[in-house]
Amino acid sequence: MENNAMKTIGVLTSGGDAPGMNAAIRAVVRAGCELGMTVYGINRGYNGLMENDMVKMGLRDVSDIINRGGTILRSARSDRFKTEDGMQAALRTCRERGIDGVVVIGGDGSFRGARDLSLHGIPCVALPGTIDNDIGCCDYTIGYDTALNTIMQMVDRIRDTTESHDRCAVVEVMGRGAGYLALNAGIACGATSILIPEIEYDFDRDVIQRMVRTQRSGKVHFVIIVSEAIGGVEEMAKRIQKETGVESRATILGHVQRGGSPTVKDRLVASQMGHKAVELLSQGIGNRIVAMQNEKIYDCDISEALTMKSSVDLDLYKVAMDISI
Ligand code: ADP
Repeated sequence: MENNAMKTIGVLTSGGDAPGMNAAIRAVVRAGCELGMTVYGINRGYNGLMENDMVKMGLRDVSDIINRGGTILRSARSDRFKTEDGMQAALRTCRERGIDGVVVIGGDGSFRGARDLSLHGIPCVALPGTIDNDIGCCDYTIGYDTALNTIMQMVDRIRDTTESHDRCAVVEVMGRGAGYLALNAGIACGATSILIPEIEYDFDRDVIQRMVRTQRSGKVHFVIIVSEAIGGVEEMAKRIQKETGVESRATILGHVQRGGSPTVKDRLVASQMGHKAVELLSQGIGNRIVAMQNEKIYDCDISEALTMKSSVDLDLYKVAMDISI
């Protein structure tokens, strides 16, 4: 890596937290230090930038965090940052601290902030950190694999008890407006039905009739996975019980999905992305997202990326339906 002009950078985590954010922070700090940069860890997302709340971080300040969930810098949402007053406060801090560039780790909301800051003269590189995997330009977002594995482990446990009691478990999983977590976890957990926002469903056809059909071939316990964008799992469980006679329970997995030690994949991707972000900033390049496509790390323009839509693999849905019978 070559360090042209950039001498001082900041790193922040913004929006919903995700396992692997710490691995990304570690990579940014270490890669920055390696280039002789001063690296500030900015606390509580854009709040820390507006309020000048940050600490210089050296090599040893990021020891023992690669294995930890959450974010040591803490994360936050800030409406003020969306205003001109908030932007001016952030620019003031950058001037006072001599910050020439910022690495922003977060979701697409955080990317809009990074774009705005770049357009105001502070080059930013954004890294996709969200368990939802819902960012258009990226096949993969930091935290997604850990969340998937957590869901699988939790549903496996629930499945044990549905098996003991001949029950049906209706499980709501996260994903915001996207069905990636539900679809992929649904396949991994052998769910009889998977309801996601990208695919229109008919409850009788896609849940009740599928259960009845599998009952005829001898199935006595069931798992139904429902994306949070659809919700309503309590009512669904009642309806299933009434119409199939199978005792049914609803579970909302909730924030257990956001925590935990990151998997190998999340640590690897976060480390590569953090390193790449510093490489770009060191060349004076900002207003970029570091993303992953076809298992390769690349970078793209933030504004362009924000116009791209993410979409689940419909073939994968067909696979799920064909084999969960
Ligand atoms: P995520 O990054 O996980 O999508 P949010 O959508 O809550 O989470 O965004 C995180 C933060 O990014 C917001 O609280 C705000 O400070 C900043 N942000 C979001 N949208 C914009 C925007 N349009 N302009 C400037 N900053 C934004």
